Amino acid sequence: MCERDKEFLERAGAIARKAAIYGKELAREGVALLEIAEKIEEYIIGEGALPAFPANLSVNNIAAHYTPPSKACGIDYVLRRGDVLKIDVGAHVNGYIGDTALTVEIGTSRWRDLIRCAEEALNAAISAIKPGISVRTIGKVVETVASSYGYKPVINLSGHGLGKFIIHTGLTIPNFDNGDNSKLRVGDVIAIEPFVTDGRGYVENGPCGNIYRITAKRINSPHLQKIANNFRTLPFAERWCSALFNDHCAVLKNLERKRAIYCYPTLVEKKGCVVAQAEHTMVIEENGARILTSAK
Ligand code: MN
Ligand code: MN
Repeated sequence: MCERDKEFLERAGAIARKAAIYGKELAREGVALLEIAEKIEEYIIGEGALPAFPANLSVNNIAAHYTPPSKACGIDYVLRRGDVLKIDVGAHVNGYIGDTALTVEIGTSRWRDLIRCAEEALNAAISAIKPGISVRTIGKVVETVASSYGYKPVINLSGHGLGKFIIHTGLTIPNFDNGDNSKLRVGDVIAIEPFVTDGRGYVENGPCGNIYRITAKRINSPHLQKIANNFRTLPFAERWCSALFNDHCAVLKNLERKRAIYCYPTLVEKKGCVVAQAEHTMVIEENGARILTSAK
C-alpha cells in the first residue's frame, strides 16, 4: 500500500469513527432509527467520504445487518428505554474503507457490563496483535475476555480483512479459537469485531434488514446499471434507492425476485438474547496494530 492509499484509509477511518460517535449522541429514547441513520450518513458525506455500507442500527437481539427502511417501503423503529443499540458504520475514501462499531444502551445501565465486555475484548485483541500472530490466537483472546465476564462470544460472526471497495476479503478473524493458524502480516488491513451475548452465542438469519448487494454476474437491465453506477460492489440501503427510481420499493422487489440483487438477512441471536459489539479497523505494523478508526 502506498502512502497516498494509507492517507485515504486514515481519513475514511477517522470519519467512520466520528460518525459512529455522532450516532451515539443522537441515540435517545423516542428517537427514530431512520433519523439516526440518515444523520450518520449525511455526516460521512459532509466530511468528504461516502458510506461504505448503510449505517447498521441493530437493536437488542439483532446482532447485525439492520438498517431502517424508507417511509415508503417499511415501518420505522423508535428507540425505547432499555434498548441496546449497535451502531456499525463504514466510510470509504476512493474505495479505502474504515469499518467501526460501538454499542449504546438507551437510558438504562443494565447492560453496562455486556457493552464493556465487547469493548474490553476488542482492546485485548488489539493489544495482543503483532506480525505473525495467528487468527485463532486473537479469537482465543476475545473468548477469554467474554468468559471472564460470564458471557459468550458470538461464534458465527467474525472480523475480516478489508480491500479496495470490498468490505470482507482475505482473512477471517474469529471471536473464539477456531483452530485457524492463518497469520497476520505487516500491511494487512483488518477489522476486529467481538460480539458478545448472555445468550447462546450463535446467530441465525432473520428477516431482510433493508440492506442489499448486487449478485448478478452481468448487468443486464437499466435499473441494475443504475444501482451498479451508484454503489459499485458495496452494500446499499433500500432507502438510498428512493432517489434513483420512481416506486423504488417495487423495483428492488423485482430485482430481488430475478436474483439480480440479494437482501442481507438480519442476524439474530438464537435464543433471542441481547448482543453487544465493538469494532475497529486497523493496519498491522512491525510493532503491532495501528487503529485506523480512531476519532482524531
Ligand atoms: Mn462493521
Ligand atoms: Mn466489519
